[in-house]
This record gives sequence, structure tokens and C-alpha cells, in this order.
Amino acid sequence: MVALCPECEAEIDLQNRLVGEIVYCPDCNAELEVTNLEQPAVALAPRVEEDWGE
Ligand SMILES: [Zn+2]
Repeated sequence: MVALCPECEAEIDLQNRLVGEIVYCPDCNAELEVTNLEQPAVALAPRVEEDWGE
């Protein structure tokens, strides 16, 4: 059960992962969200701005 990194097409093992979980590409270290497990797929995780202060 592997998906391809949308950035570099490295294979990413999705075994024991859940939809919505964040995984990191072992090759390019992209932050990826698991979007599908039946047809394993990941998408680049949206960049969350941790800017809670003003
Ligand atoms: Zn990658």
C-alpha cells in the first residue's frame, strides 16, 4: 500500500496510516496528507500558519 509523492514521485508507505493523517516524504521531506487509502493517495498538506499572535 504505497502512494506517490506529488512533489518527487517517491513511494510513500501508507501502511497503518489513516485518512487525514500527515506523513512526510522520505525523499523530499514534503508534508503530505493522506487523502485516500483504497487507492493510496496523498496530497500536499496545506501550510498552516501558526501565527496566533497579532
Ligand atoms: Zn517527495
